[in-house]
Amino acid sequence: MLKLYNTLTKSKERFMPLHKGKVSIYTCGPTVYDFAHIGNLRAYTASDVLRRYLEYLGYEVRQIKNITDVGHLTADDIAQADTGEDKMLKASKREKKTPEEIAKFYEEAFRSDEKEMNILPAHYFPRATAHIPQMIKMIEALIEKGHAYEKNGNVFYDVTSFKDYGKLSGNTLDNLKVGARLEEHPDKKHPWDFALWLKAPENHLLKYKSPWSVGYPGWHIECSAMSIEYLGDTLDIHTGGEDHIFPHHEAEIAQSEGATGKKFSNFWLHNRFLLVEGEKMSKSKGNFYILKDIKEKGFEPMHLRLFYLSSHYRKQSDFSWKTLEQARANYERIAEWILKLKDISKSIGVIPAASEAIKQFESAMNDDLNTPLALSFLYELITETNKKITENKLPAKEAGEILAAFGKMNKVFGLKFSESVTITADAIMTSDDDIKAKLIADKRLEARRSKDFQKSDELRKEIEKMGYLIEDLEDNYRLKKKS
Ligand SMILES: [Zn+2]
Repeated sequence: MLKLYNTLTKSKERFMPLHKGKVSIYTCGPTVYDFAHIGNLRAYTASDVLRRYLEYLGYEVRQIKNITDVGHLTADDIAQADTGEDKMLKASKREKKTPEEIAKFYEEAFRSDEKEMNILPAHYFPRATAHIPQMIKMIEALIEKGHAYEKNGNVFYDVTSFKDYGKLSGNTLDNLKVGARLEEHPDKKHPWDFALWLKAPENHLLKYKSPWSVGYPGWHIECSAMSIEYLGDTLDIHTGGEDHIFPHHEAEIAQSEGATGKKFSNFWLHNRFLLVEGEKMSKSKGNFYILKDIKEKGFEPMHLRLFYLSSHYRKQSDFSWKTLEQARANYERIAEWILKLKDISKSIGVIPAASEAIKQFESAMNDDLNTPLALSFLYELITETNKKITENKLPAKEAGEILAAFGKMNKVFGLKFSESVTITADAIMTSDDDIKAKLIADKRLEARRSKDFQKSDELRKEIEKMGYLIEDLEDNYRLKKKS
């Protein structure tokens, strides 16, 4: 039985979908004005694990992830998303490109990052700029129902009109009165009202016609409008980072529920932040990393993915190059273990998964997607099997069962392992290149056995020149074609 922590009720609840066998997920996606940083990628990986586990359990999942290409203003964290500059326009000035070019470039970068991280693509990635009519329709409904008002071409949500305001974040109007540092918009009735539509200045590049003014939508309205467009009035699970809880998701609830009169999302899942060496990531501190930085340091996206899985999504995770090295070591340990299991079980073909391993895995994942616990069970299993392998006591059948169990679990972990041909001393090769590489590797093994390290080094270089990587095993080697 799957239990998920719901930010809305502040408790772990049994997950039940609205429609039998089906789950709808809305994931707040990127604002495509810059590269995704490793904190963003953590959030996308967390919702990927959620989706993968629901699919593992047999649900048919429909996931929507929006692409914000208009309306996300620079001061969204302190204000109600109605001050500052449009992030797209800021980037457009910075890079001397049109907002469309910026959006296209960073959306492609985002998609390519997700692919490298082995994050399953959402079923649809709606762009905000393509859904202005849906947003206008929703704003009209909100005005009609007394939840929104227009002044001087601007439209604001009247937070005092929605009695449940604050139910997600705890920021009720009473609590908000204290300590607010808001830049007041002259057209607002109350400081916590937030923008649904803003009139555009004369030379603004991203503007659209509306009943109120030529302008642009607020950031929050896009997620309400697009979620309802693709997933209906009520969805099963809405995900995002903890920074989305307020004001973004609080506003989404006020808008959607205000417009439809129905509950917006049954579950709200939020991952906590990623820190870098105990500090918040920021460009000015020089601890701001994107996937490219990770790769330039010689790590693979899968090392980063395993690093993410190693902490619970609802706990802060602390990134450092040392912890990433640890993740790489664990990744390589798993990879090597798989190869050994494949080798031992190769004679027996496909067999059912080891049920004990699967039981442990599910018990961990059912408890609010506890990936670090699931991994610790896996590492125990690796230690146990490796011990048996060294003692030559692992029967082919057992190796096959464990391998099958890992295959099942990995549908959820989503770790990619190299599919390239692996050549060991006892392997039989067919391709000419592989045969040549193997001959040199055999020679090198002889050199290692006679402790002729100079020769062994020379032969290693020769092998690498041929496009292979060689790894030393105990009285054996492993050759892999470089990808
Ligand atoms: Zn959103």
